[in-house]
Amino acid sequence: MNQALEKLRILADAAKYDVSCASSGLERKNSNGIGNSKSFGICHSWASDGRCISLLKILLTNKCVYNCVYCVNRCSAETKRASLEPEEIAQITIEFYRRNYIEGLFLSSAVEINPDTTMEKMLKSLQLLRETYSFNGYIHAKIIPGTSSGLINKIGILADRISVNIELPSESSLQLLAPQKKLSAILSPMDHIHNKINENNDLRKKFKGIDKFAGAGQSTQMIIGASKENDYLILNAAQQMYHKFHLKRVYYSAYMPVVSSSLLPVPSSPPPLKRENRLYQADWLLRFYFFKADELIDLSSPFLDLDLDPKMSWALRNMHQFPIEINRVSYEELLRVPGIGVRSAYKIVAQRRRAAVKYEHLAKMGIVVKRAKYFITCCGKYYGKISLKPETIKNALFPEINAEQQLTFWDRN
Ligand code: SF4
Repeated sequence: MNQALEKLRILADAAKYDVSCASSGLERKNSNGIGNSKSFGICHSWASDGRCISLLKILLTNKCVYNCVYCVNRCSAETKRASLEPEEIAQITIEFYRRNYIEGLFLSSAVEINPDTTMEKMLKSLQLLRETYSFNGYIHAKIIPGTSSGLINKIGILADRISVNIELPSESSLQLLAPQKKLSAILSPMDHIHNKINENNDLRKKFKGIDKFAGAGQSTQMIIGASKENDYLILNAAQQMYHKFHLKRVYYSAYMPVVSSSLLPVPSSPPPLKRENRLYQADWLLRFYFFKADELIDLSSPFLDLDLDPKMSWALRNMHQFPIEINRVSYEELLRVPGIGVRSAYKIVAQRRRAAVKYEHLAKMGIVVKRAKYFITCCGKYYGKISLKPETIKNALFPEINAEQQLTFWDRN
């Protein structure tokens, strides 16, 4: 088991750059009780019902025949290499599960020999877990671009979620930084998975006893900051993938300078974490707030504002649409007000069927009144107490943003 643990340490460490779930970093020694936990390999993810679940996050192997410039596991990198056999993966997962460390598995891999050979091993691991060990926990399996459709079909029946990482959102960046990957070879399995999910849903409506295919859907990941793409391009690519392949999530991963290359940003640059955060916020607006990418950002100013969240930034650029009367406008219009979220918009709509919503009700409904008051009227009255000019509202809300930043903001907008 010690040898397997050493392999696990290497492969869990190698998996940490995939952000589909975040590492917990938890370490707890067994001092006077049962069990202990190691800091590597355990990460947290969220189920569709909002539950936080802990996953064992590992690579099948970090021996890669590809040479993606940004990757610590690329074939030309000097790093400790290891591979786990399917039986080892199944045993480790079951051991961790029995000790209550994890509720599921996140299994990815480098490309050992070729995509199909690697994915055969992944399939075997999942078969052992599901069929031999009767493991019913959550499994997220990464599909390597170029994997044959037959293998994807088998893996999709055993895994709850499957994902194909796009990594870089343009053919030219892939050519430069991941020369063995082609955009078409990434998008084509996404399309196949999308069609299989639809086909499976139809079959399950007609016949009983059909297993779910990727019941928790598919997702992808994009690296931010390793290549030249701006937020406009990234957000539009995400929107297209949500629309075309019905992805459950696009994950954005701020580029970590783990290797140096003249093709990459200088290693001293800090990871663009704020940019990553703004992209997640904008992504949320695409998925739950009925925004379109080109409303949030346009080519004349192709990066999201780092000082303001995308919804506030949009609202301040569109003050001609405000204030709106919360007792009259649609659910979709309510969602556009800074400080009003999905739940509070729903509560407003439900409440006003009974009686008009009054200003004093707003805080109790979960609305962030100190933001929303500049964009709404309540029973015809405006409570913002200042003019509707965007500069004035921005100063009132964010006095900490200094004059120089404000100038930059207005220049860009
Ligand atoms: S395929 Fe590219 S990104 Fe994936 S492990 Fe190999 S070198 Fe890294």
